[in-house]
Amino acid sequence: MDCLFCAIVAKTIPAKILYENEHVLAFEDINPQAPSHVLIIPKQHIPTLNDLQANQIDLAGSLLYTAKHLAEQLGYAESGYRVVNNCKEDGGQAVYHLHLHLLGNRVFTWPPG
Ligand code: AMP
Ligand code: ZN
Repeated sequence: MDCLFCAIVAKTIPAKILYENEHVLAFEDINPQAPSHVLIIPKQHIPTLNDLQANQIDLAGSLLYTAKHLAEQLGYAESGYRVVNNCKEDGGQAVYHLHLHLLGNRVFTWPPG
């Protein structure tokens, strides 16, 4: 399958990996939108949040838990941070392998762009 993030999971494309377990991989975004910008993905190929199945709820929880864990590790859990999922065209999704963006070490505004 021609998927950039599956290639990162397979380690045929390099990435700066910050966290990995059996089901989840987290690595630095190549074009950071904050001083800390981490992508958190399931190792399994799920194209978008729309494709998440009921039997993958634990996996979705693991993605969110990894965001919390990394925010602690990276030192900005207390000050705060942002977790984002861009879903499909109107959401601004560019890579069709489900991922959370973890953004930290700056102040974010609301509403987003
Ligand atoms: P999205 O727009 O939500 O699909 O986000 C895709 C993200 O993947 C963007 O923030 C890109 O900067 C990031 N990205 C694209 N290619 C790579 C790569 N090879 N390694 C790390 N991050 C990447
Ligand atoms: Zn994939």
